[in-house]
Amino acid sequence: MRPSVLDPYFASLTSLPGIGPKLAPLFDRLVAEPGVPARVLDLVLNLPRAGIDRRVGGSIAEAPAGETVTLAVRVVEHRPAPPGRARAPYRVVVEDETGDVTLVFFKAQRGWLEKLLPVGETRFVSGTIELWDGRRQMVHPDRILDARAFAALPDVEPVYGQTEGLSTRVVAKAVGAALERVPALPEWQDAAWLTRNGFPAFRDALLRIHQPAEAGELSPELLAKNPARRRLAYDELLATQLALALVRAQAKRPAGRAIAADSALLDKVRAALPFRLTGSQEKAVAEIAADLASGQRMLRLLQGDVGSGKTAVALMAMAMVAGAGRQSALMAPTDILARQHAARLAPLAASAGLRVAALTGRDKGRARQGILDGLASGDIHIVVGTHALFQDDVAFRDLGLAVVDEQHRFGVHQRLALGAKGEAVDVLVMTATPIPRTLALTYFGDMDVSVLSEKPAGRQPITTRALPLERLDEVVSAVGRAMETGARVYWICPLVAESELVDVAAAQERADDLRRHFGAAVGLLHGKMAGRDKDEAMARFASGETTLLVSTTVVEVGVDVPEATVMVIEHAERFGLAQLHQLRGRIGRGSDASTCLLLYKAPLGETAKARIAIMRETEDGFRIADEDLKLRGEGEMLGTRQSGAPDFRLADFAADGDLIAAARDDARLVIERDPQLMSARGEALRALLYLFERDAAIRLLRAG
Ligand code: ADP
Ligand code: MG
Repeated sequence: MRPSVLDPYFASLTSLPGIGPKLAPLFDRLVAEPGVPARVLDLVLNLPRAGIDRRVGGSIAEAPAGETVTLAVRVVEHRPAPPGRARAPYRVVVEDETGDVTLVFFKAQRGWLEKLLPVGETRFVSGTIELWDGRRQMVHPDRILDARAFAALPDVEPVYGQTEGLSTRVVAKAVGAALERVPALPEWQDAAWLTRNGFPAFRDALLRIHQPAEAGELSPELLAKNPARRRLAYDELLATQLALALVRAQAKRPAGRAIAADSALLDKVRAALPFRLTGSQEKAVAEIAADLASGQRMLRLLQGDVGSGKTAVALMAMAMVAGAGRQSALMAPTDILARQHAARLAPLAASAGLRVAALTGRDKGRARQGILDGLASGDIHIVVGTHALFQDDVAFRDLGLAVVDEQHRFGVHQRLALGAKGEAVDVLVMTATPIPRTLALTYFGDMDVSVLSEKPAGRQPITTRALPLERLDEVVSAVGRAMETGARVYWICPLVAESELVDVAAAQERADDLRRHFGAAVGLLHGKMAGRDKDEAMARFASGETTLLVSTTVVEVGVDVPEATVMVIEHAERFGLAQLHQLRGRIGRGSDASTCLLLYKAPLGETAKARIAIMRETEDGFRIADEDLKLRGEGEMLGTRQSGAPDFRLADFAADGDLIAAARDDARLVIERDPQLMSARGEALRALLYLFERDAAIRLLRAG
């Protein structure tokens, strides 16, 4: 259970003074996950982006134009707009010993201004000075305060992200109220580490960030180095690494049953493969065999660029497990991919007497029950499926290995859920997305890694060209010529996100259009089609019944039709680099040369231009991932699901890269010394896990 000291952090925002039913939804939009009401925690972890110094900065004569300044002034004179000129501004002249400034208000109410700026009184005004006809003026000051209100204003006002209807000032006020209510927490960080880095305590760090002494502390350069922000970022990283370390610690506990590979059975599978495994595939197979034989639970990441042949490695691993009388589950991110894997693996496995089944959300009723029975009885040795595998009624006779394909789509939660379906389940995670090292650390912690560094022999490089959409006719002719020589073609239409239906309509239209040229050779595949129709469209393309497949990005991940050698990507400028690389990875899988045509809408923006240039330059997924990181910037990379990063609120890839490895080491040490988190620091660390909502891992402790 969550420690009660955290309750004020998890309290609803509406418990704060001044946040009622009207403001609450605005705050939700600003700081909370979609669909979840904001909590005090969300507010205090929403850090300011800049600070504005509101101290009186000097006299009017010295005030620099173009900067925000605060002045102590005496009100001299009101000059309302002349009658009949409603659009003219209302002016108020104010002065100090050194000169005067005109405050300018458009559409202002006279009564309100007279109350705000009584003639003869002293007021504090804060805003930007401009020169107009050589005279100083300030249009719509940010603040107009009397001495009392000014004294209550903090020296430095934090500036927060904005959402419509919610000014940064209202946010600042709410944050102030929140900070008064949240308690200091028992320290979970190592004292020596805090001292070494000059990190303040957790709550002090919040105060220092939200109520800085100097505006400069919140400037972008200094914010990156600001020990208060770094402390909070480190907390978040440690919570993440600790959760991963807990998962790993439980995964690594003795499996109790070492699996010795049945070499006769493996030889049968090997013989059934239409190719010889590459050196790096063999190496990965050997590494997996060693893990399985070790008696420790396996937690291995198999990383290999698109087309490097990860599936064959998975098959060998699953065959080893089957040889020991246990079952395997292969998790795929999409329906299509699950079925493709099952169809591919079934005949190969059958040659060794092993049975393969597919299970996705589509399987219902009797067919589904048949598969469930087969899993429960052990008749099915290998099941390939989607999320449907996690459902409660899916039970195995003896699940020994979970293989997760294209892992970046799944989180730690899912890994835990699959592991729970068996006793001491070994885990193999496969990913094509080359993950930069720092990111891999944050996401996978310290999994063992096998890399497929070489592609199967005989692959030809892909020629990539970029053309403006205006040249569509030429492209259609070229595609036609390629089809005459027997080429199979993917034609990708983008998803534009506003409405999937609109996108589907665009794909449909393109297919109709191409049918006018190529008739029945044209197939169509998109996410809104019924499952069976998708299968059929895919199967017809794989068998060559259709030779041009118009598709949305549903083919992005994993789909394997080695005969396909041409890909046209429409509106290539709308895709990210990683996605273009994944898409292009669908061709160049056989021994024939392949061509990828990137059709773009001119004019191209800088980033799109750079992306397309990189695609033309290289096929190397690692290089592409690096360039992607550079182009996108760490912020977006961390923020997006697609990149495979867990959600970080505070940690910043660029500024806190050094902290990631430190957090990993720290987490490992903690788990070594205090595996159940029972010490005083362990207790505090549990609170940390809750605070950053990585507490799913705490269940492992109890179970353990
Ligand atoms: P990915 O790593 O992208 O998942 P796949 O496992 O789908 O790649 O393999 C891509 C293609 O390469 C498939 O058609 C597969 O049959 C083929 N393949 C895999 N290993 C080899 C090999 N050693 N030699 C030749 N072809 C191979
Ligand atoms: Mg694959």
